[in-house]
Amino acid sequence: MSSNPQVCGVPENILSLLSIPANREALRRASHDPTHAESFTRFSKAWKPIKQLLQPLDSSFEHLVTIHDGQVHDPLGAGSYVFQKSLISATIHQLGLPELPLSSGHEDNPLLPTTLIVHTGAQPNNSPHAGTLVVFFKTFLIAQHIRMHYDKILEEGRLSALEVQWIHNFTVKVQLNLVDTAPDNAKTPKPGADGIHYQRSLRSGDLFPSLLPDYKEVMALAAEAVGGKVPYEIKTQTNLLRMTSIPKIIEEIVKNREVIGKTLSPETGKLAMRAACSKDGCGLAEKHGLHNKYLTLPDGTVVISFVCSERNHGRHEISTANPEEVARLEFNTPLRNLVRTLAYGLDTNESRTVARGKGGGEVRVHMRVTGMDYAGTYSEQLLWRPLCLLPFKIDPPVILYAPLIVDWAGSKLSKSLYVKDSAYKYLEEQNMSYLLSYGKMKEAGKDPMVLFELVNGWVQEPKKMFRSYSIEYLHQCFSKQT
Ligand SMILES: [Zn+2]
Repeated sequence: MSSNPQVCGVPENILSLLSIPANREALRRASHDPTHAESFTRFSKAWKPIKQLLQPLDSSFEHLVTIHDGQVHDPLGAGSYVFQKSLISATIHQLGLPELPLSSGHEDNPLLPTTLIVHTGAQPNNSPHAGTLVVFFKTFLIAQHIRMHYDKILEEGRLSALEVQWIHNFTVKVQLNLVDTAPDNAKTPKPGADGIHYQRSLRSGDLFPSLLPDYKEVMALAAEAVGGKVPYEIKTQTNLLRMTSIPKIIEEIVKNREVIGKTLSPETGKLAMRAACSKDGCGLAEKHGLHNKYLTLPDGTVVISFVCSERNHGRHEISTANPEEVARLEFNTPLRNLVRTLAYGLDTNESRTVARGKGGGEVRVHMRVTGMDYAGTYSEQLLWRPLCLLPFKIDPPVILYAPLIVDWAGSKLSKSLYVKDSAYKYLEEQNMSYLLSYGKMKEAGKDPMVLFELVNGWVQEPKKMFRSYSIEYLHQCFSKQT
């Protein structure tokens, strides 16, 4: 008899373990609910001989298998500690919204009619994946919970007539800002003989219109999930660039281009400001702004000259004195982040000043929800530092970050890697590719509300919001629903 007897390729010691009904039940329960501690212990015992079975095949496979206890921890620390019970009220304070009922000594604070706009964004170069859905759902949930915060105060009934009126007039809405100025890779040429990088943006091609329905569908889904009480709108970059403050923001950034260029584009030291060439339907824009020329006129307006050598189109210009031309400007991601933060910050500050004046008016308060890959060093060096350097008086931005969805190694889930480099084959083999695309999620019959409920749990228990979540964890949440 062999020292390692097998029946149909399965070692006898595994068969003997599986012959015990309690073990079979433990494996069944562990596969349905890995958090069940007793099942896990029995599963672990059964797993050891299975690993021995794998080893003779190829020991290099062993590192691909991870077994864990299924326990989810939410240790407190940093943001999760500070905001564990007060994320919504802290956000309301940071936004400068009224903290009702007004405390004694503050009753004469003017209660100005207010709209809160909760922004989020996306580069629409693919059908939104699970990470994008998480950001959209969090945006709507934050808007809903701020609304609910005031509705609860209203129910408690300790408010003055003016305070009641303010709550009735208070509007919270969501705005999705689609970055249609991001590069359309399929229509972007390789660098020419002169080494200059040109790009065509999404708004010049047909990919963006083809993907728009998925974004509209997810936004409608999110709005419905929060009870249909949070209005929303979808905007593109032109809407941002038509804001009245944009010309003076561009003029100031151009004036400080030495320091802002080196801060936001450390590899080139230049402002990555561009515009599509309009000759003969060309549409090419010099990606890094390396050959831009800037001229500041005596009245403070700026003329920016761009090059299009790809087709010998020469130079073309945009003047900050012409709003139609300003609306055609495009920026790389850090510069766009700075421009829009200044524009929304100025809008909040200036609308407050106007509303406090004799003529009155409405205050527009802006905040942002985005993915956690834009937190940390990125935000501190590429947003807050330039904000401190430029001479604008704005209300400090309020940005909430949604947890990143990561792969097994902790890397951000990337749809572009999936599309361009055929990454994540292992997800397809395990029927998990529905998490890479809303389109595939629909095809697979998976309910996006599983993700919505997950995010809702984070908003209700904010200590769960200050970290990443693995794609395997998300898949487990979906599996529990089937
Ligand atoms: Zn051209």
